[in-house]
Amino acid sequence: MNLILFGPPAAGKGTQAQRLVSGRGMVQLSTGDMLRAAIASGSDLGRKVEGIMQSGGLVSDEIVIALIQERLPGLEGTGGAIFDGFPRTLAQAEALDAMLASAGQKIDVVIRLVVDDAALTQRVEGRFRELGRPDDNPESFSRRLDAYNRDTAPLIPYYQAQGKLVEVDGMADIDAVSGLIAGALSRDL
Ligand code: AMP
Repeated sequence: MNLILFGPPAAGKGTQAQRLVSGRGMVQLSTGDMLRAAIASGSDLGRKVEGIMQSGGLVSDEIVIALIQERLPGLEGTGGAIFDGFPRTLAQAEALDAMLASAGQKIDVVIRLVVDDAALTQRVEGRFRELGRPDDNPESFSRRLDAYNRDTAPLIPYYQAQGKLVEVDGMADIDAVSGLIAGALSRDL
């Protein structure tokens, strides 16, 4: 099974993805983690994307699509993929559908974590104090939310039209959200 964890920045996608990995043998594909690893390694790619990420903008479709394409062969024999933070634009969503189709696969379900903007801002203020992630500063975070609303939210009707969208209350506590996701997945299988 391949699923997308969908939602605004700081909705809890990464946390829930990790729980699905340990519980179901799935593989988490987080383009944000891949890009942060590229920055940490000092690679050309890292140097290219660092400024964009810190300011809260979106990295080009071409770059993130290539990162995902590289990882798809590694999914064989696993419990499937959890796409976390990808796709973020319509072009990425269409490319993902095409890449999966050419491997005889598809997205089975899109779990949308619904969290309101005020709660996200509050969460991220705490996370910034705790972890100091550079793009969690108030200005960058506000740009990330704008990018979500402008470029990523249009994917909601895209997946709704495919009959794949399931909405989960992302305001609940972490365990409750995991329970809601498990319920949604068992309904879907
Ligand atoms: P994340 O960890 O998913 O919140 O991603 C952190 C940052 O990495 C984003 O604010 C973007 O700058 C960049 N990024 C991650 N995934 C994508 C994507 N699918 N498309 C464009 N930019 C991305």
